[in-house]
Amino acid sequence: MPTALVIVIAVVAVLLVATLVDVARSEVQHLPRWVWALIVVFVSFPLGAIVYFVVGRAPRDTAGADVATATAAGSATDREPTVAVEAARSVSVPSTGPPAVWPGPVPVVVETRGLSKIYGDTAALDDVDLVVPRGSTYGLIGPNGSGKTTMLSILAGLRRPTAGAVDLAVERRRMGLLVDTPLFEPWLSAREVVDLARHLTAPDVAVERVTEVLVDVGLADAVDRRTGGFSRGMLQRLGLAACLVGDPEVLVLDEPSSALDPSGRREVLDIVGRLAHTKTVLLSTHILADVQQVCDTVGVIDHGRLLYQGPIAELLARTSSAFVLHVRQPPPELESVFAARPWVDEMREVAPGRFRLVVSDAAAAESEVPGLLAAHRVALVSFNPATDLESAFLELTT
Ligand code: ADP
Repeated sequence: MPTALVIVIAVVAVLLVATLVDVARSEVQHLPRWVWALIVVFVSFPLGAIVYFVVGRAPRDTAGADVATATAAGSATDREPTVAVEAARSVSVPSTGPPAVWPGPVPVVVETRGLSKIYGDTAALDDVDLVVPRGSTYGLIGPNGSGKTTMLSILAGLRRPTAGAVDLAVERRRMGLLVDTPLFEPWLSAREVVDLARHLTAPDVAVERVTEVLVDVGLADAVDRRTGGFSRGMLQRLGLAACLVGDPEVLVLDEPSSALDPSGRREVLDIVGRLAHTKTVLLSTHILADVQQVCDTVGVIDHGRLLYQGPIAELLARTSSAFVLHVRQPPPELESVFAARPWVDEMREVAPGRFRLVVSDAAAAESEVPGLLAAHRVALVSFNPATDLESAFLELTT
């Protein structure tokens, strides 16, 4: 008899502690968390616990992001009232000056206001106002550690912001997220992985769609192969297929091409390029060339701050004060010759015979550079405005 009593007491104690842990970790409603803890402890067990589970525990967030990959599954959802889903709308953004540059009102699908995320003494995001136009292919570019993953994770509901708000014009479940290095159970076939994603995110979608998306991402020959033998590029494409099977309106891709070799990158960028006409795509990368190839809109982030966002063409047009000068066998004194000219702000050799020239007076540069080179008997190969994204990026971040 005493033994039975001890077992009963132990079971009650374990259930009590488990309930208190749940009170501490779950979202509660109607009363403060500490009041629910008192109710659980002092209202005769298990009555208090039952009242808590029925009345006090908030239902789980049903608007979790698409579970696109095994690594995204089971992550935390937002607990703060910072995510608003609203009807599609347009914002009017200023036509000049950072951080947002669009010629007129644009329909917006994802928007953040004053978004900040602080880790200890690191501001991973610092007061970011992101605006993603509907139907755009938006490239969030920045060096490693600039806050890209943090931003995408918050948008997808996997992390909570420290401050600020996220407005979505689509339901969270209509967003598909692909993490940077997707991992899948190695014993599952590609078909099983995508079918699992279909079950979890869009059970109403016909099973035939599984094969279709695998063909779309170029995995037709690997449909029934186990993913354990897949290359990184194949895993990335499989992750995309798992995202796409639920037909999300917004695709969020974290560094989709960064870990891939040139041919793998090409394949993934081709797929993203094809999606561009049908979906809003928000991708992060530190590879500027990738953004220039597939994106029409760009956000430049550095140290958690958004330095520019808007059409790529607009950003490139801003760098008209920079030129790329290509000459044959430049003499050692060439840089000092240029540095002595009043219209030269900076002259730097970026590759043998190739110089990046930042000037304060573009017209003076265009008329004087050929003469300067001729005077020092330097052969000119080319002299062009620096309209590449790299120049624009360097200008913004240095
Ligand atoms: P990116 O994706 O651009 O490489 P991240 O968003 O991963 O950048 O990181 C931005 C900054 O936040 C970095 O300084 C990083 O060290 C820091 N950071 C990211 N996640 C955490 C975390 N869970 N704990 C502490 N610091 C973090």
